[in-house]
Parts: sequence; structure tokens; C-alpha cells
Amino acid sequence: MASIAFVGLGVMGWPMARHLAAAGHDLRLYNRTAEKARRFAAAYGGRPAASPAEAAQGADALITCVGNDDDVSEVTTGPDGGFQALAPGALFIDHSTVSARLARTLAEGAPHLLCVDAPVSGGQAGAEAGQLAVMCGGSEAAVDAARPIIEAYGRRIVRIGPPGHGQMAKMANQIAIAGLVQGLSEAIHFALRAGLDTDALIDQIGKGAAQSWQMDNRAKTMVEGRFDFGFAVDLMRKDLGLVLEEARAVGASLPVAALVDQFYADVQKMDGGRNDTSSLIRRL
Ligand code: NAP
Repeated sequence: MASIAFVGLGVMGWPMARHLAAAGHDLRLYNRTAEKARRFAAAYGGRPAASPAEAAQGADALITCVGNDDDVSEVTTGPDGGFQALAPGALFIDHSTVSARLARTLAEGAPHLLCVDAPVSGGQAGAEAGQLAVMCGGSEAAVDAARPIIEAYGRRIVRIGPPGHGQMAKMANQIAIAGLVQGLSEAIHFALRAGLDTDALIDQIGKGAAQSWQMDNRAKTMVEGRFDFGFAVDLMRKDLGLVLEEARAVGASLPVAALVDQFYADVQKMDGGRNDTSSLIRRL
């Protein structure tokens, strides 16, 4: 079992850390709001630390699951960041969704560490169930070293390529979802206006070429106007911001993703920032 510094006990990080504790790893915990780390330690074990550096002192691995680029920079290479305390050969796994640029910069700046950018898909439910899909960027050695640890909460753990490629894989995931949810919203909007029996419709077309995870899991709740399932519009806008920045860098044309980003901005203006992503239909 490994000694692991875990930073970021939020919606995703808390259940991930819980699975690591259950697997028998020795956890050192850091969270911006210190109370959460104390609460976690009281419930599941592990030692709260006063900083990411203290948590990472002598650890085999540093795992982060925080918010955005600034947060990841702060807890890794900031003045109290974990990198300064990690020994050569230690693992760094970042599960936050951030820019590919940051993932590359961190890996290039710490060649003595095994760095893996490992954003996840599957949401809170996937984290709770230990069933996350994990898209990894890093050397083969780094991903091989990370896999036995991530297996505590990951179902599919795949190396996509070198540093940054995990983050870009997550971006491709979000690009695909954005257009799909807009298409599904329009289909349901049309069906409601046309007076179709939406239950029968969804059961029928959901078995054909229009089938999707979104159709299976969200179409009926979209009809009912229920938008309190997991991944929030605010987070989707953060991710689409990363997507559009990276698309400019690589010269990719993403007109639908750019448009849907603006549609999500409309939903935010409707006080829907905490609604889940299927709330795109509210605009219609
Ligand atoms: P969250 O609930 O806001 O949790 C983030 C945690 O990190 C909080 O406990 C926060 O501390 C801590 N934190 C943030 N910045 C920090 C800093 N600078 N120093 C120390 N601790 C810091 O967010 P989440 O939903 O778990 O998401 C975490 C990451 O996973 C994000 O990058 C998100 O995009 C990604 N993600 C989320 C989902 C999802 O469904 N939620 C799905 C896939 C990917 P406080 O307690 O002080 O706020």
C-alpha cells in the first residue's frame, strides 16, 4: 500500500479518497477549508496536513482534485505546494479538469516525478461508485505506476498519450456532449410543441440510431423539467472555455461547441449555473 497525499476533498475528491482509504492506503489530507480534511480523517482515517507541502512530505504519490488551473498551480508549484516535498520517482496524479498547457508545463518542470494528467468522466455518481472513466496523459511508466492506485475508484483507466493528452481527451468528451445535448434538447422541444407522446417517443427512438447515454439517462427528466443531476452548467462552461482555448491553439474549428457555450451562458443568466447540463432545453 502507498502513502498518498490527497488534495481537494470536494464532490469528486471526497469519494475518491474514501475508496483509497478503503483500499488500505495511508492518506495525508489537505483541503482549502481545513474542516473537511478533519471531518474526512475522523470518518475514514488519514492525517490532515497544514499545507500541500506538508501532506506530500515523504509521500509515494500526490493526488489532486481541485478546481481550475490556478488551484492546481497553487497546490503543486505554489509556495506551499506539494512538488517541493516529493522525492524523485514519486507520482503526481491530477484529476482536476484543467488546460493541457498546464499539464505539459507541470510535467516538463518536474522531470524527476512521474506525472499523470488524469481527468475523469462519470460525475459524482461515478466517483461514489468507484466507477470513473479516467483519461491519462503521461509516460507509459507514469501511467503504469498510477494505475494500481487509480483502480480504487476507476473502472476504465486508459493512457491516451504523453502529458496533456489526458486533458485533451476530456475536452473531446465535452465537445461531443455539448452538441449532443443541444440536439436532444431540440428533439424534445419539437416533440412537445408537436404534441407527441414523449414517453413512447423516447422509448422508441432511444432504441435506434438516436440512442445515447444522454437519451437513456436525461431525456425523460428533461421533459419533466428536472435538472438536479450532477455535472453543473458552471463546470461545463469552465470546460468549454478550456476546449475553445485549446481549439485555437491546435487550429480546430468548433462552431457548434462555441455556440453551445453561449447557450450555456444563457442558462447561467437564467440562474441556472448549478443546474445540470441537460438544462440546455430551458432556453427553448
Ligand atoms: P468541488 O466540489 O468544488 O471540490 C473542489 C475541492 O478542492 C474543494 O474541496 C475545495 O476546497 C478544494 N480546493 C479548490 N481549490 C483549492 C486550492 N487552491 N487549494 C486547496 N484546496 C482547493 O469540485 P468537484 O466537483 O469535486 O470538481 C473537482 C475537479 O473535477 C474540477 O476540476 C472539475 O471540473 C472536475 N470534475 C468534476 C465533475 C463533477 O461532476 N463534479 C466531473 C468530472 C470532473 P473548499 O472546500 O475550500 O472549497
